[in-house]
Amino acid sequence: MAEIKIADIGRSLVAIKDIEEDEELFSEEPFVSCQFSWNVACKYSACDFCMKPLETAEENVKRLTGNPDYTLPHPEYSNTDKNLHTYCPDCRIRYCSRLCFDKAYDSYHKVLCLRSSILDPDNPLVILNESWKQMHYPPETATVMLIARILAILKQHPSKAEIRSTLKIFCQKTVEEEAALAHKLLGDKFADQLSTLNNLFCVAFPDPELQEFLQPDAFRSLLALIGRNAQGIGTSPFYQWRTAIEESDLPEKEKKQLDKTIDQIYEDIDQVSGTFLNTEGSGLYLKQSAANHSCIPSARVTFPQNNHVLSLVASRAIKKGEEIFISYLDECELSRSKTSRQQALRENYLFNCNCERCEFGDSGESSSDSGDDDEEMSD
Ligand SMILES: [Zn+2]
Ligand SMILES: [Zn+2]
Ligand SMILES: [Zn+2]
Repeated sequence: MAEIKIADIGRSLVAIKDIEEDEELFSEEPFVSCQFSWNVACKYSACDFCMKPLETAEENVKRLTGNPDYTLPHPEYSNTDKNLHTYCPDCRIRYCSRLCFDKAYDSYHKVLCLRSSILDPDNPLVILNESWKQMHYPPETATVMLIARILAILKQHPSKAEIRSTLKIFCQKTVEEEAALAHKLLGDKFADQLSTLNNLFCVAFPDPELQEFLQPDAFRSLLALIGRNAQGIGTSPFYQWRTAIEESDLPEKEKKQLDKTIDQIYEDIDQVSGTFLNTEGSGLYLKQSAANHSCIPSARVTFPQNNHVLSLVASRAIKKGEEIFISYLDECELSRSKTSRQQALRENYLFNCNCERCEFGDSGESSSDSGDDDEEMSD
């Protein structure tokens, strides 16, 4: 595994040895992660701690196609192990393993456990979650429930100073930048929603020791922190099964046949569930959040364990001492023109991109990227 040096000047990731294409640079667990609220409500059942799906691949396909009679070939390639599943004895929230329950309970669940109030519409944490759902409809891109978990971590952790300094690593913005990031996260009804949310948090977390984090300025900083740093997480039992089939030593002929089955499943899913295939959420990652953006990234974020453990993988060979860049834009945005890319980056991340591709266009060695073909066609 490659090691990464985190430089202090504005945070960046630098390779400390030569790295090959497709080599893993590092993997890391998030400081905190959380599944999106609508995603939970729509029955994408996953471990409440690590987001590993709790359905088998077959159950997943049955639900997403709306066809309870679907049978998936080779169910043995689904790695969902229900024997390991467990739940919180007090609120019945489910986990993929005893280890995940213990980790959640020790870091934030002791505070956030709703016990018998899980369906009580008057519980302040339930109100908070429902209110957020009314502010932020699918497709979901963020969740303020990350803030609830951060506050619970602050309350449970023996050293608030330690958590405070971790949060500082993520937060390096001016007041104006924070306001713009919070605004972006909450959309146009910003002013209303900011104070509404702030009040809901004050009711849900009345603890005197947390009040400093719930003052209007501090609360806005927390929103800006997740707006700027939260990394999307996606997991899927069907995708895990599909990848396991691809990597298996099944005969090529059988794999070809299975490819056809898989294509058909995607078509059937598309009819019923559209593009909502994954368990989705977001998390804060200390190392990954240090990586700066480029429109020709040298690394990509993956979730190979089908849970919230992030792996940064080199998209091409990287030389020792070179800065490592990821893309803050998704594949589709990345394939757009310079004008569209720069607009998206300015709006969502408040900076003007001056990466090589933005400065010099797509000529020369970088033009091999297939997504770049329609460069400068639109806008
Ligand atoms: Zn788990
Ligand atoms: Zn519980
Ligand atoms: Zn750029």
